[in-house]
Amino acid sequence: MEPVTAITTGLAVAKGATSLFKEIKDLFAMGNPEEALGAINQAEEKVSDLLGTLITVQESVLSIQEENRQLKENLSQKDAWEERLLKYKMVETEGKGIVYQHLDTPFYYACPVCIENKYEIHPLQDQKVFTGVYLCPACNAKYNLKPKTTSPGGRKMVSSGLKRG
Ligand SMILES: [Zn+2]
Repeated sequence: MEPVTAITTGLAVAKGATSLFKEIKDLFAMGNPEEALGAINQAEEKVSDLLGTLITVQESVLSIQEENRQLKENLSQKDAWEERLLKYKMVETEGKGIVYQHLDTPFYYACPVCIENKYEIHPLQDQKVFTGVYLCPACNAKYNLKPKTTSPGGRKMVSSGLKRG
């Protein structure tokens, strides 16, 4: 139950209990203890209902407080991440790879897959191969960041893994 609804219910119950107490006093004044006793029982029920409503309100408020705490935490994490990302921009490299570039020192490229999907920043590692490939140490994505170079022997070394026939 929403706390506002519970409070409205509680107020109605409290009003009912208050008028019952007035009725009890009047019944005693008129010398009618039997009916007064009945009214006391009714008032007791109303007070008990009121306690139940207050417990509901307390539970709702606690859950709202927890939700609020969580939202604040998420918001501050989001702000911190966005501030961190301000130090990067998306670029196309010489090798036609699209990656993030750190705008400050040290200079490096960062993996866009990790940034977009995991909110993590991992500098791409130069594999020192003629194809100009860089590797993300976290997700193993490969990016062609440098143009291909054809140094003697270099091509053979890299293509030696391919065995045909
Ligand atoms: Zn990655």
